[in-house]
Amino acid sequence: PPINSILRQPPPPLPLMSSLTTRHVAVIGAGAAGLIAARELRREGHHVVVFERGKQVGGTWVYTPESESDPLGVDPKRRVVHSSLYDSLRTNLPRECMGVRDYPFERREGKDRDPRRFPGHREVLMYLQDFAADFGIGEVVRLQTEVVIAGLVEEGKWRVRSRPSNYNRMRSDDCDCVDEIYDAVVVCSGHYVQPRIADNIPGITAWRGKQMHSHNYRTPEPFQDQVIVLIGGAASAVDISRDIATVAKEVHIVDRSLNKNAIGKLPGHDNMWLHSMIDSVHQDGRVVFKDGDTVGAEIIVHCTGYKYDFPFLETNGEVSVDDNRVGPLYKHIFPPALAPWLSFVGLPWKVVPFPMFELQTKWIAGALSNRLALPSKEEMTQDTKAFYSSLEASGTPKRYTHNMANYQWDYDNWIADQCGIPGIEEWRVEMYKFASKNKRLRPESYRDEWDDDELVLEAQRDFSKYLN
Ligand code: FAD
Repeated sequence: PPINSILRQPPPPLPLMSSLTTRHVAVIGAGAAGLIAARELRREGHHVVVFERGKQVGGTWVYTPESESDPLGVDPKRRVVHSSLYDSLRTNLPRECMGVRDYPFERREGKDRDPRRFPGHREVLMYLQDFAADFGIGEVVRLQTEVVIAGLVEEGKWRVRSRPSNYNRMRSDDCDCVDEIYDAVVVCSGHYVQPRIADNIPGITAWRGKQMHSHNYRTPEPFQDQVIVLIGGAASAVDISRDIATVAKEVHIVDRSLNKNAIGKLPGHDNMWLHSMIDSVHQDGRVVFKDGDTVGAEIIVHCTGYKYDFPFLETNGEVSVDDNRVGPLYKHIFPPALAPWLSFVGLPWKVVPFPMFELQTKWIAGALSNRLALPSKEEMTQDTKAFYSSLEASGTPKRYTHNMANYQWDYDNWIADQCGIPGIEEWRVEMYKFASKNKRLRPESYRDEWDDDELVLEAQRDFSKYLN
C-alpha cells in the first residue's frame, strides 16, 4: 500500500502479570533514549516521569543555529547548547537500519518530510516526535525541567531534584527546586555534549588563531576563504571537512589513523589535504605536520569526540567516570551495587543506537518489575571485572570501554535473550555491513548511491508486521 495510507498501530502492551511490581521511575532526558525508555517502562506498567531540560523532545536531533559562548567548549561557565548538529547533517545510517525495531523509520508523506533513504536531521526529529505522539509519551514528559541532583537516599530510593531550565544560571541551592522520591532512575542524558579536545599538541597554548570544537560547528559561511586545520577522522570530521571545503581556501585534515599512502592531496578535491599528525603549532599561525608540510592556518577545528558527564548524579562513589569509562557497569547499563535502581541507556558507541536503546530499556523495565531476574551483585561485579581485564589484556585503552564496533550485534542479541525476545534481524546486520562498506568505497556519495535494494525490500516486508 502507498505509505501515506498506512496507519501506524503501536503493538499492544505486554500482558501484565499480577506478581509484577510497579515502580516510580524517573527518566532523565527526552532524546531518543529517554522516549524509548518511557515507552518500554510504561508498557511494563511502571509510573514514569521524563525530565527534559530542553523546550521539546528529541535531544541531539533538535537542531539549533546557536552555538556555545566558548567555541572550544572548555569554559565550565559557558552557555551550554545541547545539540551538536550542523545544518547540512544527513544520517550516516540508512533509515531502515536506524529505526526502532517495531516502529520503522519509514518514509512519510507530508509537508517538510524528507523521503531520502539517508534523510536530513529534521526528518529524524519528526520521526521521534511521531514516536512520542503515537505512544502518548508527551503526557509524562516535563519539558524545560532540568535535573540538578539524582541522589541515592537508600536502596531503591532516589531523590530527584529538578528546577526550571535556565542555562545562564550556575548550579545553586537557593533555586526554585522541587524534590521528589523515586524508586529508580534511568539516565538518558546523552553523551555528545562535553567536548574532548586535542590539548597535547606542542605549542597549542601559545597559538593565537581561533579554535573550536565540532560541537559548535553549524554552517560553513564563517570559514569563507580561510585556511583550516581540522583534527579527527570520525563521521563528523568527514562531513564537516567537506562542508567547510565548499567555501574555505584550504582544509587540512589531521587523522592519526590514516594509512600512510593516503597522506597528501585528497582525490577529487582541489582544496583538501590529508595529514597523519601535527608536529607543532606556532604563535605566527604556522601548523607543522609530521609529514613535513607546513601551513599558515587561521582556525583549528577539533572533531575529537566527547566526554561522558553526569553532573547531577550522586551515588556515594558507586559510579564514576574515569578516562571516559563509566563504571563499574554490568553490560554498560547497571552499576552492580545499585541495580536495577540505577541504569544508563545508550552509553555504547559505534552502534546502531535506536534498536539498542529498545533492547536495553526492555531489559531495564523487566528487571524493575521483577519479571526478569538479574544476576547477584557478586556475579555482576565479577562479570564486569572480567570485562575490564579483557580490555586491559588486549591493550584497549580505558576510553574505548564503551566502543562496541566489533560486537554490537552480539551485545544486542545477548540482551534480547535476557528479555526472551527475538534478536536483531539478519537484514539489519547485513544492511549495516553494506552501508559501512559503501561508505568506505564511496565516501562522497554513499548517501545517494547504493547496491542493497534487495535488503531494503526485505526490511519493508518485515516492517509490514508493524504497519497496517
Ligand atoms: P540525546 O539525544 O543527547 O538526548 C539527551 C537528552 O537529555 C537531551 O534532550 C537533553 O536536553 C536531556 N538532558 C541532559 N541532561 C539533562 C538534565 N540534567 N535534566 C534534564 N534533561 C537533561 N545516530 C543514528 O542513529 N544515526 C545517525 O545518523 C546519527 N548521526 C549523529 C550525528 C551527530 C553529529 C551526533 C552527535 C550523533 C549522531 N547519532 C546518530 C547518534 C545520536 O546521538 C543518537 O541517535 C541519539 O540521538 C542519542 O540519543 P540520547 O537520547 O542518548 O541522547
